[in-house]
Amino acid sequence: MAPLAIRRATKSFGGFEVLHGIDIDIEDGEFVVLVGPSGCGKSTLLRLIAGLEDITTGEILIDDKEVSRLHPKDRDIAMVFQSYALYPHMSVAENMGFSLRMRDVKPPERDRKVQAAAEILGLTPLLDRYPRQLSGGQRQRVAMGRAIVRDPKVFLFDEPLSNLDAKLRVQMRAEIRVLHKKLKTTIVYVTHDQIEAMTMADKIVVLRDGHVEQIGSPLELYDTPANAFVGGFIGSPA
Ligand code: ADP
Ligand code: MG
Repeated sequence: MAPLAIRRATKSFGGFEVLHGIDIDIEDGEFVVLVGPSGCGKSTLLRLIAGLEDITTGEILIDDKEVSRLHPKDRDIAMVFQSYALYPHMSVAENMGFSLRMRDVKPPERDRKVQAAAEILGLTPLLDRYPRQLSGGQRQRVAMGRAIVRDPKVFLFDEPLSNLDAKLRVQMRAEIRVLHKKLKTTIVYVTHDQIEAMTMADKIVVLRDGHVEQIGSPLELYDTPANAFVGGFIGSPA
């Protein structure tokens, strides 16, 4: 059973097609990186998977069940954004518990889940702080915590590190890999940074202008790029 499959997915905005029939199969527990230049459709594809945009044609399957018409809340998916999008007036614990509150998870269980996620992310001492009192890396951890508390089937990350400085970015890459190992979950991670893709992915999907150019392991892409675009993109410095 594939946790996530995307079948012939297209997306148009006002009659203008930006995704032209995307097919991707993702295995259980896989760390998949979607990589490609700015504007190629990475965020749009993630938003289709999450249900934040309606698919134009095609299907999205989670555990072999078609979810394209389901409300985002009813898909077993959590998304982490580049902008963190933390609620400034809520503490770390409240930020992390919010999506559970929206799903009617009651306090004893909610607190237990928040504490467990905080433990995994090293956020336990910060649960009573507010976003403005946190560093960039800590805010990013809280954003991940909000996703983890829900224990979703699939995590979606949209360029989660692009607001961080270079040193912290390298550290957070490693942290996210460790997190993936701990949670044994399926991750779809978007970046325009090929170094990030090569160092983090089990499987890389190279997108260009709304098409999949190649899907393969980092080594496969490096050794046998499908075409000059993939070769140039993967081989060039960040
Ligand atoms: P990426 O994340 O790879 O940088 P996006 O998915 O954001 O790319 O965008 C892909 C294309 O879709 C771009 O041409 C962008 O302008 C267009 N696009 C994205 N969202 C919208 C929208 N809400 N309305 C119209 N066009 C959009
Ligand atoms: Mg984007």
